[in-house]
Amino acid sequence: MNIHEYQGKQLLRQYGVAVSNGTVAFSPDEAVKAAKELGTEVIVVKAQIHAGGRGKAGGVKIAKNLDEVRTYAKELLGKTLITHQTGPEGKEVKRLLIEEGSDIKKEYYLGLVLDRATDRVTLMGSEEGGMDIEEVAEETPEKIFKEVIDPVVGLTGFQARRMAFNMNIPNHLVNKAAKFMLGLYQVFVDKDASIVEINPLVVTGDDDVLALDAKFNFDENALYRHKDIQELRDFDEEDPKEIEASKYDLSYISLDGNIGCMVNGAGLAMATMDTINYYGGSPANFLDVGGGATAEKVTEAFKIILSDEAVKGIFVNIFGGIMKCDVIAEGVIAAAKEVGLQVPLVVRLEGTNVDKGKALLNESGLNITAADSMADGAQKIVELVG
Ligand code: ADP
Ligand code: MG
Repeated sequence: MNIHEYQGKQLLRQYGVAVSNGTVAFSPDEAVKAAKELGTEVIVVKAQIHAGGRGKAGGVKIAKNLDEVRTYAKELLGKTLITHQTGPEGKEVKRLLIEEGSDIKKEYYLGLVLDRATDRVTLMGSEEGGMDIEEVAEETPEKIFKEVIDPVVGLTGFQARRMAFNMNIPNHLVNKAAKFMLGLYQVFVDKDASIVEINPLVVTGDDDVLALDAKFNFDENALYRHKDIQELRDFDEEDPKEIEASKYDLSYISLDGNIGCMVNGAGLAMATMDTINYYGGSPANFLDVGGGATAEKVTEAFKIILSDEAVKGIFVNIFGGIMKCDVIAEGVIAAAKEVGLQVPLVVRLEGTNVDKGKALLNESGLNITAADSMADGAQKIVELVG
């Protein structure tokens, strides 16, 4: 789960990690009020969306007085911002961060990730901050430094200082930078984050070392033990179909294709998507209804697929192990009757109660194409979608 920059900074503040002063605003009036309270000469108006690259896309504005704050707030609120991370459809700006302008001397990059190769949390830093760190990684990888963290000991002061030296933080600010890193690590571990990115971390004219940007991602499997983080979830930033799916505990991810998939088991779901691709089609979603799904859950899953306007055909591919084929059939029929089925439907059922399931589908009066195997089903749905 992602959160907004201003929420990330609030979290950092709680851990004594230096960030610039700022307040969230939902309207131009609130923006001006927040700017007045900050009372600084330069005010930065920042679009809050769950995507980076806002600076280059015009989502970060520098205002020199309250009139400019109002103008920029009006301009940004309601605007669809397209950055290299939003995709071509962009994201609508509904919140702003009104922040004190910093006198930036230099921008650095600092991040913490869970490195799956070493199974360790890893601190990454570079003096090439502010811009696309992916580019730095590709062109000048020697400018990115890593500290692999022992989970028992945690990030040590020595490692943090070594990182600060590697990043060429001015000598007299190395301890400030190290303190920043230790705090950042503490938040990461305490809150079960999977990514924290501070890009840029800046050194200012007043010799402060602070976070100008903050990107957090949290492990959803651990959210149950962080009520405070759960409350930061912004449903406006998420795909409504994925939100609906999560209510029913379905693993659903929207994709750009046009063949809706309903499958049980993540492995079979992946294989189904591959097979569709192999035969020249393109899946509209990943959906794992799970092992012990009820008819109600299957109904909801099918409704979610049908609610996607991009879907031009549906492929149900079920291996009934724990899951019973007749339960799937009931769910499909109930959903199709409730919402109306306008697109071709190919069903491949195998396993427990397969005959019962097939009989139910045959008697349903729905226009269903039966398939004998995964490959057969994939070919049939690709053909029907055209
Ligand atoms: P994004 O990563 O989405 O582009 P950032 O928060 O990193 O957004 O902002 C982009 C750039 O805008 C920063 O690299 C920095 O140069 C400038 N900037 C952002 N916040 C401030 C601030 N409070 N004061 C001065 N400059 C800022
Ligand atoms: Mg940034």
